[in-house]
Amino acid sequence: MFIEDSHLADHPPWVNLLLAWYDQNKRDFPWRRKIDVYHTWICEVMSQQTTMAVVVPRFERFIATLPDVKSLADCSEDLLRELWSGLGYYARARNLRNGARYIVTERGGHFPANYEQWLTVPGVGPYTASVTASICAREARACVDGNVIRVVARLTGCSSADIWSELGRKKIQDLADRFIDHGRPGDFNQAMMELGATVCQKQSPSCERCPVKTVCRASRLEVVAQCPPNKPRKQIEFVELDALRVSSPAAGGDELYLLVGRKRGFLSETVGFPLFAETERSTLHAWLKANNHVKSVHISSDGLSHTITNHRISVRIVDVELFAGAALPSDFERQFSQQFADSLADCRWVSKSLTKKTVASSLDRKIWENIALF
Ligand code: SF4
Repeated sequence: MFIEDSHLADHPPWVNLLLAWYDQNKRDFPWRRKIDVYHTWICEVMSQQTTMAVVVPRFERFIATLPDVKSLADCSEDLLRELWSGLGYYARARNLRNGARYIVTERGGHFPANYEQWLTVPGVGPYTASVTASICAREARACVDGNVIRVVARLTGCSSADIWSELGRKKIQDLADRFIDHGRPGDFNQAMMELGATVCQKQSPSCERCPVKTVCRASRLEVVAQCPPNKPRKQIEFVELDALRVSSPAAGGDELYLLVGRKRGFLSETVGFPLFAETERSTLHAWLKANNHVKSVHISSDGLSHTITNHRISVRIVDVELFAGAALPSDFERQFSQQFADSLADCRWVSKSLTKKTVASSLDRKIWENIALF
């Protein structure tokens, strides 16, 4: 047994202490002033993997521009990108809009009324369903995020790396489900997360002002720093990619570059230079060789290195020059998007001067900087 929680059951008032502390100390966020299903859903998705300082102004702008589920369902791609700027993981914004479209078309604009119904909305998983159902429908579904895992590990004095396993996650979910306050499930979830974010922080927790210190086993045993242990590191994976820089002369001496919207891969849902995995190289190069718009293909001897989480990526830059001719860029673009339709959402030609502004990822910016040296 790597999570020992019997002492928590012996002290049921700890949940009351936690809720009383939350009532007095919760931070004033716009979505907490009045419970609104749409606001709760949006802020929950926005808050994943970022800080509240980043989320609050973007949430306010988002709600002012798209005040309801219908306006989100109708939102254009460009506006959605603009409103999501700075929040990262653009796929989440697209999922939100897909969910909004489902709610408008399949549910007549009515939000799901419980956890099970939320799970039928495209893009909504158990965590988001728990947040919305517990806060908006008072359903006793505990939410487990990184803050909650840390708080539970410390309350139970758990220093075993097993806490990061699937079984560990399930045990934490069971524990949180057992202790959730059935009268105030949404507040219980928010209080656990708030405690983790503002008091029981990863580095230097403020135990002296913690409302549940009396039941905290890690504090009593003076093992707070070991609970939970660091997550086991993921194994490094090495990846090779070809990045295409397809250029075409434009009027006024400028140059155009072909950028694509990516459907899959490391940088899925972003706009940038076409990227091809090692396994796609032979198809790509055979296609380029056979294409009669291609004037030359040159593989740069200076590759790039880039890291995304546990992936070490080495990128070969492949410069593709097209023949000059007014109709060529659009003709090439059409053929290219047909050939690689599986991986591309769209293609567009962008002038050299605008390319830097159009690409968003740091890998694309590196590829751009390499162009800028020409
Ligand atoms: Fe976290 Fe300290 Fe509170 Fe324990 S006493 S839950 S370690 S802040």
